[in-house]
Amino acid sequence: MTVPLPWQESLWRQIVVRRHAMPHAVLLSGPQGIGKQRFARQLVAGLLCHAPQDGHPCGECRPCHLHASGNHPDFLAVAPEKRSIVVDQIRELIEFTVLTRHFEGLKLVLISPAEALNRHAANSLLKVLEEPPAECIFILVSHAAGRLPATLRSRCQQFQLMVPATEMALVWMREQGCAEAEALPALEIAEGSPIRALEMLENDRVAQYQELLKDILGLIKGQGDPILVAREWQAIGGEWVVRWMLAAIARLGRHLLAGRRNEELELVPAMQKIGEALDLARMLTLYQLCLDTRRLQAAAITLNEPLLLEGLAIAWAEAGKLR
Ligand SMILES: [Zn+2]
Repeated sequence: MTVPLPWQESLWRQIVVRRHAMPHAVLLSGPQGIGKQRFARQLVAGLLCHAPQDGHPCGECRPCHLHASGNHPDFLAVAPEKRSIVVDQIRELIEFTVLTRHFEGLKLVLISPAEALNRHAANSLLKVLEEPPAECIFILVSHAAGRLPATLRSRCQQFQLMVPATEMALVWMREQGCAEAEALPALEIAEGSPIRALEMLENDRVAQYQELLKDILGLIKGQGDPILVAREWQAIGGEWVVRWMLAAIARLGRHLLAGRRNEELELVPAMQKIGEALDLARMLTLYQLCLDTRRLQAAAITLNEPLLLEGLAIAWAEAGKLR
């Protein structure tokens, strides 16, 4: 048996050794697309199983069969109805916790994503966790744990799941059938999260990102008209363009700061060239501009997106001239 994902090995061991003294409430937090759900589901399955091995479900016992078919009576999954997890769902949860258990062992509640709890629901859940029902474990999963009320967080034992090292992520992505040349740029725009990176590939986002990098490189070199380039960026969508620029500059910045020695920060060729053409100060200026643009995009005012994108394209071209 292996852990759900290779980079979760040590955390898995940390949590599983506590199987017989599990905290009442566990909060699994960390960025999107690194496998928190898989981890949580495997943890639940292992805790429900009557003959687990290293915390993993045996897949053979009756609780395992029931859980696999989605019918385990001592397990409740709580997910948003529409956008939020609402207080009625917490009322159902409370009813579930007071019911008699069907099996010897634990009752488990999985709440994901926990940041979807609205205020009333969070308050109501907090009351439950202040006097936790016996033999019941709550597992909360969140990629925005900071948005949970501090009082609720303080009732949970928090475990942070991390973005894997690039090399490990690349190996895993290749095992999933991802082509070598595509894996790295996908990982770049997914900010290191491998599962998210695969989604980006499926949605053709990676090809668009690579085009964007080529466009930027062209602008820096004084090739290409910023106005025309900005028009092409509109087809990608302003939000993606700005997000990727931010991700690319952040990655380049880290690369520069690491003195280009850190192999963890291997770069795709176009990025490498952009990095060679610009110094850190110019990158920071561009980064700031992207942040300002994103702020304008987020403010729900009527937006002249073509103009914003033109502004960005011109800024890249100008940065190239300053060499
Ligand atoms: Zn089992």
